[in-house]
Amino acid sequence: MSNEMNSSNFIRNIIINDLETGKHDSIITRFPPEPNGYLHIGHAKSICLNFGLAEDFNGRVNLRFDDTNPLKEDVEYVNSIKEDVKWLGFNWNNLYFASDYFDEMYNRAILLIKKGKAYVCDLNQDQIREYRGTLTEPGVESPYRNRSIEENLELFEKMKNGEFEDGEKVLRAKIDMSSPNINFRDPIIYRISHSTHHNTGDKWCIYPMYAFAHPIEDAIEGITHSICTLEFEDQRSLYDWFVRECEMENVPRQIEFARLNLTNTVMSKRKLKQLVDEGVVDGWDDPRMPTISGVRRRGYTSESIRNFCREIGVSKADSTVDSQLLDYFLREDLQPKAPLAMGVLRPLKLVITNYPEDKVEMLEIENNAKDESKGTRLVPFSRELYIEQDDFMEEPVKKYFRLFPGNEVRLKGAYFVKCNDVIKDENGNVVEIHCTYDPETKSGSGFTGRKVKSTIHWVDAKNAVACEFRLFEPLILDDDPENEGKHFLEQINPKSIEVLQGFSEPTQIKDAKVLDKFQFVRNGFFSVDSKYSTKDKLVFNRVVPLKSSFKPQK
Ligand code: ATP
Ligand code: MG
Repeated sequence: MSNEMNSSNFIRNIIINDLETGKHDSIITRFPPEPNGYLHIGHAKSICLNFGLAEDFNGRVNLRFDDTNPLKEDVEYVNSIKEDVKWLGFNWNNLYFASDYFDEMYNRAILLIKKGKAYVCDLNQDQIREYRGTLTEPGVESPYRNRSIEENLELFEKMKNGEFEDGEKVLRAKIDMSSPNINFRDPIIYRISHSTHHNTGDKWCIYPMYAFAHPIEDAIEGITHSICTLEFEDQRSLYDWFVRECEMENVPRQIEFARLNLTNTVMSKRKLKQLVDEGVVDGWDDPRMPTISGVRRRGYTSESIRNFCREIGVSKADSTVDSQLLDYFLREDLQPKAPLAMGVLRPLKLVITNYPEDKVEMLEIENNAKDESKGTRLVPFSRELYIEQDDFMEEPVKKYFRLFPGNEVRLKGAYFVKCNDVIKDENGNVVEIHCTYDPETKSGSGFTGRKVKSTIHWVDAKNAVACEFRLFEPLILDDDPENEGKHFLEQINPKSIEVLQGFSEPTQIKDAKVLDKFQFVRNGFFSVDSKYSTKDKLVFNRVVPLKSSFKPQK
C-alpha cells in the first residue's frame, strides 16, 4: 500500500522542501480524532493523508485521541476508531491520548500566567461573547484582565481543586482584545467541568480548550506537520502563539486542507449521532450511514475507499464530491473479486410444463464472466424456477423483449423458454407463468436455429436458498445537505431501504460467511450482513448496483 497518496499535492511539496532544506530529518504526522462518535468517510480522507504521508516519506504517524471534552466522549468510540483505522489498512506507530498530557498542559498554563499571558476571568459565557466584539468592532477588555500574577495563580489552583462551580471561572490567554483576528481576543484556555473523564476519571475538574490543547499535544509528540481542515486556517497564528509562548521545544507546522463533502451525505459526527439517537437509522453501523463501520457492514472494501481518497487528492478549496465516484471505485474493486451467482430479488414462479417432473440437471455456469480462470460451477435446473417479476409483462410495453405471452427468451446458461400461459389469483395478480422449453437450445450446444432478444437469470425452485436482500438509496435526498436553510432531518429519503424476500442459487452461497461479497447477475454487488444474517437465513446488503440509477434531487 505504499504510495497511497502519491498524487502530487501541496502538502507533499512542503514536506519535500522541509526534508531537502534539513528543517526535519524525518516527519511525524498524526490523526487526532475526538472520541465523540464513529469515524466517517471524511475521516478516511484525513487518515489516508496522514498515514500515507508517513509511509511514503518513511516517517511516523500517531493515532491520538483528542479527548479534552469528557461529556461527549466514550470508550465505545475509542474502540471503534481503532478498529476502523486498522480496517482501512493502516497501523500507527504510537497511540496517545491528549488526556495523558493534562499535567503538562496544566504546567504550561501556569507558565503563561507567570509570564503575564493568561488570567482567570469571572465573566460568564454570554458576557465573554458580548465583550469579544465583532469582525468590524474591537472587543472590550474584561474587568478581570489585570488581576495580579499571584491572584491568577491562586485562583487557577482553586479552579483545579474544585473550589468553583462549572462556568464560574475560566482561564483566558491575555493577547489582544482589538486584534482583527477574533481568535486572538483573549481566547479561553481552561474551563471548569465537574465530570468524569473516560481516561482520567475524577482527577480533573478543569479541562483545556481545543485551541490551546491541540498545539501543545502536537508539540509534545514532536509532530512536524499537523494537518487539519480548512476551518482552522484562522486559528493557525493562534496555534503558533501557543507553541511559542508555552516555550515548547518542538515547533509543529499546521497545514490546512479541504474537508471531504459527498453528495447526498451528511458528514459530521454531530449529525450522524442525531440520526442514531432519533432512530432514523439502526445504529452507527447502519449500512446507509457514511460511517466507516456502516460502509464496512454494507460491504464496501477498504481498498476502494483508499483508491477513492487517492483519486480525489488534497486541495485548498472546499468542494463536494459526487458519491457516484465512490461507487465507481467499489465496482472496480469488486468486479474481479466477487463471485457471480444468480439470485432473484422479487420472485415469480415459472413452470416448464414440458420438462420432466423429477428431473434435475446440473448446468455448468462460469463463475466470473470476465475471468475464465475463476472456473465454472454446477447449478441445478429443473421444472420449476423463479425469475424476477420484472422479467415478465403480461402486456408488454414497446421495446420490451423479455418474457410475455408468446415470447421466447434464454434462461441464462440453460435453455430457451416460451411463455404460453399466465396463472392469476382471485385478485387478478399473476402468480405463476407456464412455459415450454426447447431441449435443442441448451447453452453451449452451439444451437443457431433462431435467436432471442434477451437472456434472463433464474433460480431452481426446488434447490433455491431463501435469502433476504436489502437494497439502499441515499439516506439524504438533497445532493447538498449542508445547504443553508434546509434541515437534514427533513430531507430523509423515505425509500432509503427496501427489504426483499427472494432466492439464491445454492452453489455459490452455500458456505457464505459474514461480509463475503457476491455479484448477483444483473442485480449488483452484495455482501452478507453481519447483524441480521442467521444460520438459517442469509441477509444480503446491496453494496452497489451494477449501474447507477439514482438521480439526485435538485
Ligand atoms: P466532525 O465535524 O464530523 O465531528 P471533526 O473534524 O470534529 O469532524 P475530529 O474527530 O476532530 O472530527 O477529526 C479528526 C480529524 O479528521 C481532524 O484532523 C479533522 O480535520 C479530520 N476530518 C474530519 N472530518 C473530515 C472531512 N469531512 N474531510 C477530511 N477530514 C476530516
Ligand atoms: Mg470535532
